[in-house]
Amino acid sequence: MLHFALAGNPNSGKTTLFNALTGSTAHVGNWPGVTVDKREGVYKKGEQPVNIIDLPGIYSLSPYTPEEVIARNFVLDEKPDCIINIVDATNLERNLYLTTQLMELDVPIVVALNMTDVLDKNGDCIDVRTLEKRIGLPVVEISALKGDNVDELMKRALETVQKPRKGVSVLKDSLLGSAIANAEIALQLKEVEAPLFHAVKLVEKDEIEVQTHPSEAKAVQAFIKENVAKGNETVDTEAEIADARYKYITAHFSTTLTRARKPDYNELSKSNKADKVLTHKWAGIPIFLVILFAVFHITFSEDFLFLGALIAPFGEWCALESDSVVKAIFFAGGLNSPGVILFNAMDAFTAWLGDMIITGVEGLGASAWAVGLVSDGILRGVFGVLSFLPQILVLFLLFSILEDTGYMARVAFMLDRIFRRFGVSGRAFMPMIMGFGCSVPAMINTRTLADEKEREATIRVIPFFSCGAKMPILLAVSGGIAASFGVGNADVITYSMYLLGMVVALLSLLIMRNTVARGETSPFIMELPIYHMPGLKNLMLHLWDKAKHFIQKAFTIIVASSIVVWFLSSYGWNWQYVDNMKDSILASLGQFVLPIFTPLGFGSQLSEWGWVFAVSAVTGLIAKEDVIATFGVLAACIGATVQGGLEEGVGEVMAMISATGIGIPALISFIAFNMLTIPCFAAAATAKAELGKGKFRWTLLFWLVTSFLVSTMIYTIGTWVWTIAIWVVVAALAVVGIVFWNKFADSKAEYEKNK
Ligand code: GDP
Ligand code: MG
Repeated sequence: MLHFALAGNPNSGKTTLFNALTGSTAHVGNWPGVTVDKREGVYKKGEQPVNIIDLPGIYSLSPYTPEEVIARNFVLDEKPDCIINIVDATNLERNLYLTTQLMELDVPIVVALNMTDVLDKNGDCIDVRTLEKRIGLPVVEISALKGDNVDELMKRALETVQKPRKGVSVLKDSLLGSAIANAEIALQLKEVEAPLFHAVKLVEKDEIEVQTHPSEAKAVQAFIKENVAKGNETVDTEAEIADARYKYITAHFSTTLTRARKPDYNELSKSNKADKVLTHKWAGIPIFLVILFAVFHITFSEDFLFLGALIAPFGEWCALESDSVVKAIFFAGGLNSPGVILFNAMDAFTAWLGDMIITGVEGLGASAWAVGLVSDGILRGVFGVLSFLPQILVLFLLFSILEDTGYMARVAFMLDRIFRRFGVSGRAFMPMIMGFGCSVPAMINTRTLADEKEREATIRVIPFFSCGAKMPILLAVSGGIAASFGVGNADVITYSMYLLGMVVALLSLLIMRNTVARGETSPFIMELPIYHMPGLKNLMLHLWDKAKHFIQKAFTIIVASSIVVWFLSSYGWNWQYVDNMKDSILASLGQFVLPIFTPLGFGSQLSEWGWVFAVSAVTGLIAKEDVIATFGVLAACIGATVQGGLEEGVGEVMAMISATGIGIPALISFIAFNMLTIPCFAAAATAKAELGKGKFRWTLLFWLVTSFLVSTMIYTIGTWVWTIAIWVVVAALAVVGIVFWNKFADSKAEYEKNK
C-alpha cells in the first residue's frame, strides 16, 4: 500500500484534512501542538487504498522542538511515497517556508493550498498556475473544512508518485549556494540518501547533521570560511539561509497572491482588540474564571441566570409542586439551565423506558431474581450513567467552542506568564486542559514537553483535571447535597470542585517541580491563532465522538460491573439470594475496607449502610462512571430493604444520604477522593506506558497520598473548623521542607560540579 504523509505548519488544517480523507474523527484544535504523535488512517475513495499519516505541526525541519524531530525522522527514515504539504493560503509566506525545505528532499510532493474558502470570502486570489510553475510542484486548491477538492488532491498525488523526484533548492543562487553544492557532492560520494537536504543542513550547522557527518561538517565550514566569509570572521549560516529562503519566497511566490484590498488587517486588529481585554495582565485570569463559571452555570444550574432569586414570585411559582412533566423538566427553584433541561428530559425518558422494560420482563413471568437483575442490576446502573450524557455533551460543546475560537490557547499563554517562574511552562497546560475531556489522550499529548521531568510531573496531575467520566459523580453528589440539605446551588458546588482539582494539580506540580522533578522549563513559543468562529461540522464530529465513546462504555464496562455489583449485593456467602443486603457478600467486603475511609468521613462513623460509599469508590477504579452506576444498583437494594421507590441519579444519592446519615463535609470529601485518587484503568495504563514501570509505582502512591490528604483535610475542616490550625502548620512545615530540599539539592549539585 502507498503511504502519504501530511506535513504542514501547526494550525494549517492537517488534522481536518486527515479526517476528511480517512473519515476519522481525530481531535482538531485551534492551537498548535494538538497532534503530537503521528496518526494513521486509510483513504479508500481512490483507485487504490492509500495509507495517510498525519504528522505533528512544524515550522521547519530543524530539530528545535520534539514535533520537528518526529516529523523529520519520519520523512527521512520511513520514506513516504508522497508528502502532501498542506499550506494555509491565508498565511502564504510563512507556510511556504517549510515548503522550501521539503522541496530539498528526494520525495514526490503535492502542495495542498488549504483554507481557500477563507481566501474566497476575503476576495483574495492566488494564481495557482503561476505558483505551480515557479515552485515546480503540483498545487491543488482545497478547503479541508468543507471537503472541497480533496479527491482531486489525492488524484494529483497519485499521479506524482509515478515518477521519482530529485530534490531542488531555492538556495542555489544565494550567498551559500556554492557551499551547499560542494557539500552535496561530498555527501553523494558517500552515497548518502537525500544529499541535497543533508547538504543544506550541514551548511546550517544543524546539530543532528554535524553529529552524523563530522568530517564533512569540518570541510564545509572550512570551505565557507575561505570562499564565503573571505576575511570576515564568521557567517551566521543558519540566519543567512533562513533569510535567503524568505527573500526567495517574497520575490517569486508571494507575487502570485492578489489581495482584494490592500492588506486588510481588520480581522487581525479585531482579534488584537479582543486580546487587549481577554488576555489583560491582571483581568485576564479573573475573566477566565468568570467564563469558566458561565460554562458550568449553563450546564448545571437549576436557577438559570439567577432568575428565581431576582423575581421572587417567579421562584415561588417554579417551586410549587406540580404534576406536569413539562414543569418538572423546565423549572426547579428557578428556571433550569439548558444542561439541566436536557438532563431532566433524558432522565424522564430513561425512567419511562426502564418501566416499560421491567413491565415487559415481569409480563414474561420471570422469577424474582431475574427481575431484580434486570431492574436493579442492569437498568439502574446503565440508565443512572446514561442520564448524564446530555450534560456531558453540553459541557463539551462549550469547551470545544472555547478551544476552537482560539481562546484556550490564550489561557495557556496567560498561565505560562504566571507559572513559568515556578518551573511550569504554558506547554504543560495544553495537555492539562485536554484532561477535562479524557486523561488518556492528554497524557499522550505531554510528549510535546521537552523536559522529561516536567513531562512526568504533568502526567501525574492530568487526572486532577476532572474528565467527562467523573462528571456524573460531581453532578449526582452535588445535586444530592443541594436537594437533601437545602444548600446553595448544585452548579456552585460542581464549579468549586472543578476548581479544587485545578488548584491541587497546580500546587502538586509546583511542589514536584521544586523537589523530585526539578529541571528546565520547556520553551513555550506559540503563535496565537486569530479568533474565529467555530466550525459547526467540527463541533458536531467532536460531540459525536464523545457520545459514541460514552455510550459504548455504558453498555460494556458499566453493564458488566453493574451486574457484578448487583450479584455481590444480592447473594450471601452461601450463594443464596438474600432478602436484606446487609447479609450480602458485598456488605461483608464493604465492612472490611470501611475503616480505611474513616479519616475521610465516609468510613466507620456512618450507620449500617455506610459501606456503600467505600464500595462505590473502589469500583470507580475500573471506570469512573462505575461510581454512580454502583450507587444506582445499591440504592435500589437499600430501597428494597429500607424504603419504597426512588428516582434515578440525584434521587439515589438522596436515598444514600438518608440511609447512612452522611453529612456535607464527608460528601464533598467523597467527591474530592474520587477526583484525585487513582484514575480509571485506561488512564492508569496509559500513565504506566508513558512513564515506565518504576516511575509508575511512585505515581500510584502519589495519587493515593494526594487523594487521602486532600479529602481528610476537607472532612476534618468541614466538621471541626479548629483543625484548620493543624493543616496550616502542616502546610508551613511542607514549605520549609521544600526550601531545605532545594538548598540541599543545590549544594549537592555544586559539590558534584566542583569535584
Ligand atoms: P492542524 O494543527 O494542522 O492539525 O490543524 P487543524 O486541522 O487542527 O485545524 C486548525 C483550525 O483550522 C481548526 O479550527 C479548523 O476548523 C480550521 N480549518 C482547517 N481547515 C480549514 C479550511 O479549509 N477552512 C477553514 N475556514 N478553516 C479550516
Ligand atoms: Mg493536528
